[in-house]
Amino acid sequence: MKIIMLGAPGAGKGPQAKQIAGKYEIPHISTGDIFRANIKNGTDLGKKAKEYMDQGLLVPDELTCDLVMDRIQQDDCKNGFVLDGFPRTIPQAEALDAALTKIGQSMDYAIDVDVPDENIVNRMSGRRACLDCGATYHIVSLPSKVEGKCDHCGSDLVLREDDKPETVQKRLTVYHDQTQPLIDYYKNQGILKSVDGTQPMEAVFTAITDILGA
Ligand code: AMP
Repeated sequence: MKIIMLGAPGAGKGPQAKQIAGKYEIPHISTGDIFRANIKNGTDLGKKAKEYMDQGLLVPDELTCDLVMDRIQQDDCKNGFVLDGFPRTIPQAEALDAALTKIGQSMDYAIDVDVPDENIVNRMSGRRACLDCGATYHIVSLPSKVEGKCDHCGSDLVLREDDKPETVQKRLTVYHDQTQPLIDYYKNQGILKSVDGTQPMEAVFTAITDILGA
């Protein structure tokens, strides 16, 4: 099963993608996580990506597409994968389609986790992230067991630079300009499904599994 998660930054597509990956035993591929791992390891890609990420801008397609195309051709992706945060532009979607067509495949589902902008800004200011293992929390809806500490690795939790309110506004503008057109793109392909992302996380996940099947 090959799934794309769509939705504004902060719509909750990351935690949903992780749960989908667990239930259907397919890899969770998050371009944001890949960039953050590169930043942490001080790679050239990480240095370039950080300049864009800290400003709430998209990393250019030429730095993004090849790394995803390489990833989805690895062995563990044979039975499918769930893409989280990719594609984010029409050229990225076209590059993905072209790569899959070459190997006689296509995406199965694009799931849009729909949350209005006004909810997003509130949500993101409460988001906390572990920069060591990438886990994310929310001070109200998904708190860590010990305040300020990651449940998985015990590291400090922080408000990510790109989750600060002024950056979130910028990311929302970028989302509407560059990513939202993908909703029509996948609607035209007949694979778009929408879920109401304002519901509690468990209800969103149930709506998604209703779409994907047991
Ligand atoms: P995320 O964790 O998915 O919200 O991504 C964090 C940041 O990484 C985004 O705001 C972008 O700057 C960058 N990024 C992640 N995925 C992509 C992508 N597919 N294309 C361009 N930039 C991306």
